[in-house]
Amino acid sequence: MPGKSLVYLDANVLIPSVTRGLLIIGALTSDFRVCWSGFGEAEAERHQHERAAKISDLRIRFGWEVLVPEMDPADMEDTDPKDQPHLAAAHAAGARLIVTENIKDFGLADLASLSMSVVAPDLFLSTRLTENSYVDVLDALAAGRTRDPRTPEGIHSQEVAPRLPALAEKFVSTLDVPLGAPAKGAMAEIFRGYRCVCCEDEMPNLDHPLCGSCRPSAPDEASPS
Ligand SMILES: [Zn+2]
Repeated sequence: MPGKSLVYLDANVLIPSVTRGLLIIGALTSDFRVCWSGFGEAEAERHQHERAAKISDLRIRFGWEVLVPEMDPADMEDTDPKDQPHLAAAHAAGARLIVTENIKDFGLADLASLSMSVVAPDLFLSTRLTENSYVDVLDALAAGRTRDPRTPEGIHSQEVAPRLPALAEKFVSTLDVPLGAPAKGAMAEIFRGYRCVCCEDEMPNLDHPLCGSCRPSAPDEASPS
């Protein structure tokens, strides 16, 4: 597929298996590719449940060619020091978006100087995954399960809905089952930066995660099809 853009995954989105699966498997049939760094993978593995399959083992077993080189963060101003290596590695690899649960630790000045955005997985996936991709990923996750939920509907309702409520809501009519309630402590901030989450074009304004062309138009300004 031509023109697939590269998206960097922060360590915290590699840990939950459903989020990781949606990003990695979803990328195969979507308009993006994913990457992460070796130090991000090590950081994620330190936080994985002891019985969970190690991310590095999965990467090797499935032949994911995703690792990008580490970079020294130079001249960063307002990003948390522990996140600066992620920003530097992502930028050096050519990624314009970082998918992360941790928006607030990435500084606006650094995002502006690198012309990048950070975006929560729920917003990213609900913007970029197509209905066919979503169903394919649920089928793949269900096929690999030995514990419940092990049907696409069960994963959608019990695992996606609590963790990624906007994504589950977007496809609520695709899999016609009641959705589990969103988990407590929903993130206050889901986007920060200077790239549109949809087309990745540069945007001067920060008031919306989508550029003017990618925003759904209001009914009274919808163009005739
Ligand atoms: Zn756009």
